[in-house]
Amino acid sequence: MSILPILAYGDPLLKEKGKPIDRDYPGLDALIDNMWETMYQAKGVGLAAPQIGRRIRLFLVDASPFADEDPSLKDFKKVFINARMLDESGDPWLFNEGCLSFPELREDLMRRPEIRMSYQDQDFREHEESFSGLAARIIQHEYDHIEGILMIDRISPLKRTLLRRTLNNISRGLVRTDYMMKAPRKKR
Ligand code: ZN
Repeated sequence: MSILPILAYGDPLLKEKGKPIDRDYPGLDALIDNMWETMYQAKGVGLAAPQIGRRIRLFLVDASPFADEDPSLKDFKKVFINARMLDESGDPWLFNEGCLSFPELREDLMRRPEIRMSYQDQDFREHEESFSGLAARIIQHEYDHIEGILMIDRISPLKRTLLRRTLNNISRGLVRTDYMMKAPRKKR
């Protein structure tokens, strides 16, 4: 297995919609293994393919670090292929989110607590499933990535302006991380 560099904010690929894949996608199992390895090394709870430079509808979630808050997440580890959001419902709630493409940035974001989603697993079996609470929250964040939507697209323009320097530093690779990153505007 190998660790893949994670694209930092500013890389245009992060703004693109992922394309559906089928079981003939070359090297898919190895790619998924490498994404797990990369996610765990970076201490993330989710990772989407666009973050490692693949413009496809694939993301992984391991919500088990949240088992203290929600015991049902103890074994929550899933691969989502070709996911589609079917419904989001309930009163929006605030949660402090982070993202491996935005090291050191944490933002309180509002999202709805209940979701219904269709997706395929690693064996391309079809699923239609509902998720709630923290599981839904992580899935919503990763799902955004395959839609080309980033955390900062969900904050107010004012807040975004206030974060300009931080965002600049991220895209220039000036933020230290203990995982491998690829910053689009880094001077070499
Ligand atoms: Zn993210």
